[in-house]
Amino acid sequence: MILVPTLMSVVWELRAFCRYVCPVSVFIGPYSRMSFLSLRNKSQVICNQCKPHFCLKGNANGWACPYGINVGEMKENTDCGLCLECIRSCSYDNVSLYIRPFGMERGTRNLSEAWLTMAIFMVAIIYSILYLGPWPVVRDYVNIIDKHNWGLFGIYSLVMWSLVLIIVPGIFYFLAIIGTRISKIKSSIREVFLEYARSLLPFGLMLWIAFVIPMLFVNVTFIIQSASDPFGWGWDFFGTANIPWHQFLPQFIPWFQAILVLTGLYLSLRNIRKSWISCQMKRQQLFWFCLPVSLLFTTVAVVMLFFFTN
Ligand code: SF4
Ligand code: SF4
Repeated sequence: MILVPTLMSVVWELRAFCRYVCPVSVFIGPYSRMSFLSLRNKSQVICNQCKPHFCLKGNANGWACPYGINVGEMKENTDCGLCLECIRSCSYDNVSLYIRPFGMERGTRNLSEAWLTMAIFMVAIIYSILYLGPWPVVRDYVNIIDKHNWGLFGIYSLVMWSLVLIIVPGIFYFLAIIGTRISKIKSSIREVFLEYARSLLPFGLMLWIAFVIPMLFVNVTFIIQSASDPFGWGWDFFGTANIPWHQFLPQFIPWFQAILVLTGLYLSLRNIRKSWISCQMKRQQLFWFCLPVSLLFTTVAVVMLFFFTN
């Protein structure tokens, strides 16, 4: 992980590894659209008249954007690393950070991003079942370090990638056909498919947070200990350096997870309603357009609520 980015930075300029290889970027890029923060230009007119594009190329005040972004053309958060360098380099003082409501940006530019959105949504569900579920036999399928059972792992991989790459996108495509037909809108099935995928982002993010919460709470004791003795040098600032480990608020974890699932469902349903803006629908058309995918989201939410609270 150190060698590849280092070698790539020698051959290519800018952050080639972060932009084209890093799996973490692939994961956090789509979800950065949900952010409260967005970095944009202040005036599009100034950007349109700007010839030097300091944000993209850099100058004496700041470096070129490490992700190769021209802020004058930037419409969404996905590719921006929020390093704030362009605020320094723009000589026209035309870049600013804005605060906005959570989950407002409805990106997904093309089919590959739609696929990605569905894939990371499905992986959140699979990981939750695998690691939080009461089925140790399922965990044995992926535990190749201890069990060395490559056959079971092969079955698991086949099932998981079939679900993620074929079955779930197939279900969405099928729903897009139904949504297009029953709403009688003029948009293509591809456009409806993209709209459905766009609306999935908040639900996916909330499912990931729900999955991570038990692991975070397991480590709360260590965080409290570290606050008193951050370097392990025997300090005890707050008298908490040696408190015994305990599970943090175990009885509340299912409640937090349930709230997250419902919040994700609400935000995704809200986002699918906004499709009328891009697809220009009448009220009754909007109802039929939203119906297939809303039923799918609600079904998944009920299943995940049952799973987390049991
Ligand atoms: S953000 Fe600044 S440097 Fe970049 S295009 Fe706009 S005006 Fe030019
Ligand atoms: S904040 Fe950093 S990554 Fe984002 S557009 Fe500006 S320079 Fe590029």
